[in-house]
Amino acid sequence: MESRAALVTGGTGGIGTAIICRLARMGHRVATNYRDEAKARAWQQRMKDQGFDVALAQGDVSSPENAEQMVREAERQIGPIDILVNNAGITRDTTFHKMSFDQWDEVIRTNLGSVFNVTRPVIDGMRERKWGRIVQISSINGQKGQYGQANYAASKAGMHGFTISLAQENARFGITVNTVSPGYIGTDMVMAVPEEVRNKIVAQIPTGRLGTPDEIAYAVAFFVPDEASWITGANLSANGGQYMGW
Ligand code: NDP
Repeated sequence: MESRAALVTGGTGGIGTAIICRLARMGHRVATNYRDEAKARAWQQRMKDQGFDVALAQGDVSSPENAEQMVREAERQIGPIDILVNNAGITRDTTFHKMSFDQWDEVIRTNLGSVFNVTRPVIDGMRERKWGRIVQISSINGQKGQYGQANYAASKAGMHGFTISLAQENARFGITVNTVSPGYIGTDMVMAVPEEVRNKIVAQIPTGRLGTPDEIAYAVAFFVPDEASWITGANLSANGGQYMGW
């Protein structure tokens, strides 16, 4: 497969790291963003020790200006972006009647706003070159809702509307736009949930376990090769059978 430039937002996190490793193993040049330089450089060194060369570009993806600068810096290092994985995300869980505007706004700006902020600076280049892959990392909770996550579920459900609209607008330009909806994966985000709650979650998963970051990376990678060019506007659930709807 041709080596392409791939930008994965939130690449230093649990799922993002696995996506970066898998895309790099497929022969692509990879970049991610960071906010905390010392933390990111230490991560970059750990990746290098494992044989992965990852370009780093500073940027908070919830800011349109920051995100554009981050994309341009990533492109300076690895070339025009052909593959974009919108993976950066946060939770600020609480029931809606206790939710502050800031808890709502931070999650919507980070999870959904970032999809606009990072995709906008790469879409023109993909259209000009007539090739592109855009994958959103949504969530099972954007499909079925979740108690205590009105903000998060709204942001993740919004990614689906974005995906199917962008897929229609760009299909003729060789660009596919798809979503992966992970179930519960054993990353810091989920391990931060109290053990008792986590055990209840696991009890609802037919496979009887949490997923692994690489199982999500595998789903992302499925959308990337030339052979996947007929698949656009799709949502791929990767959730151990916990939710089998759309
Ligand atoms: P992590 O918390 O491990 O990683 C999140 C990453 O996003 C970090 O690199 C973080 O950077 C980055 N990030 C967060 N906010 C911003 C921002 N404003 N600007 C730039 N970068 C930012 O999460 P996971 O790996 O578990 O999750 C990755 C994605 O998968 C998320 O979108 C999440 O919602 C989704 N998901 C996760 C599931 C799970 O079970 N873990 C289930 C379903 C979906 P920093 O280090 O600077 O904070």
